[in-house]
Amino acid sequence: MSLRTLDTLGDLNGKTVLVRCDFNVPLKDGVITDDGRIRASVPTIQHLLDAGAAVITMSHLGRPDGAPDAAYSLAPVAARLGELLDAPVSFASDTVGADATAKRGALTAGQVLVLENLRFDPRETSKVDAEREEFAELLVQGVDAFVSDGFGVVHRKQASVYETAKAVPSAAGLLVAGETDVLRRLTTDTQRPYTVVLGGSKVSDKLGVIEHLLPRVDRLLIGGGMLFTFLAAQGKSIGASLCETDKIDTVLGYLAEAEKRGVEIVLPTDVVVAERFAADADHVTVSADAIELSPFGEAGMGLDIGPETAAHFASLIESSKTVFWNGPMGVFEMAAFAAGTRTVAEALTKVDGLGVVGGGDSAAAVRALGFPEDNFGHISTGGGASLEFLEGKSLPGLEVLGW
Ligand code: ADP
Ligand code: MG
Repeated sequence: MSLRTLDTLGDLNGKTVLVRCDFNVPLKDGVITDDGRIRASVPTIQHLLDAGAAVITMSHLGRPDGAPDAAYSLAPVAARLGELLDAPVSFASDTVGADATAKRGALTAGQVLVLENLRFDPRETSKVDAEREEFAELLVQGVDAFVSDGFGVVHRKQASVYETAKAVPSAAGLLVAGETDVLRRLTTDTQRPYTVVLGGSKVSDKLGVIEHLLPRVDRLLIGGGMLFTFLAAQGKSIGASLCETDKIDTVLGYLAEAEKRGVEIVLPTDVVVAERFAADADHVTVSADAIELSPFGEAGMGLDIGPETAAHFASLIESSKTVFWNGPMGVFEMAAFAAGTRTVAEALTKVDGLGVVGGGDSAAAVRALGFPEDNFGHISTGGGASLEFLEGKSLPGLEVLGW
């Protein structure tokens, strides 16, 4: 249960190291709107360059259809990486084709080569082992070592995550090692009180996390779209709010189990209800018991936790030693419904202990709301991977590194 670290690769001076990064950044018209994931991989790349290596990076971006698609090119990422790194960065317009081969050959110590989107090749995500192995063999050609640093993909058995790690000496990069260490502290030897805050759109996305963490936590705070399924389970009317009726029995099971284990499940006492799902919709704060009594009646939809709830959540968070937060408290993308998420994020920055933000949208939310990243104990870069780790699943990309 311990990952092979970079020092297990020995002296890297003059060596060529292939690094799997997660450069899957949001793009709008070819412009990167949030470069958090590129920044997250800089320490590992810089570490390898300082050790005297030449670095080849590879990543996926979006979901192209196993063929080149200019909309998903990593060229903008290469340019951004060049600005962030103290080193020359070049870009190959393919992964294992003529351009990459020529540019790999010309690469020298201290330089970085960014390969084009891995998912332009169908072998990267193929379900056929032999196809992934074939692609991995081509990716590691001329390479002395492989470093896995794309935490966001360690739950995937894909060529650049799993097979490359088997093909040459391999180790976890600083990002993967750091993420794994923090997530481990959320599941073993956790400092108490331990509070988990869950939100986001759907309960069904978070069932595994709730099941795995419920026995380990002291308090579970519920916000976001999923809170309405909890309210519905308690027999409350929720108007037109999000609700997964087929999950009501499951939720009742959680409430019963929490009671048995002495875990406090904290549900909102007030919510912000809107006339419709729109940034400029009329909205009011009402008691969580009386959503249908809002001026919008049955049509009212809860789009944020209310201020009383947010303040209560904040005090529970601030008095905890360990906090894991996943899922925005409301529709933070619309300013009118961002207050709950902002208050919870603010509280997390004040935790005297370990405060972790996990989940793609949650991480984007704290950045969009203007919180400096280093105000948090840790912001996990891997949405699905962090959740699967916290669900207690085994992750192929970590197992192959000795976990
Ligand atoms: P993460 O990616 O951090 O795991 P999720 O993907 O589960 O988070 O959820 C994020 C989405 O949940 C956001 O787009 C947000 O708008 C939405 N959301 C939060 N609260 C509500 C709500 N009350 N009604 C509808 N959508 C909501
Ligand atoms: Mg999400």
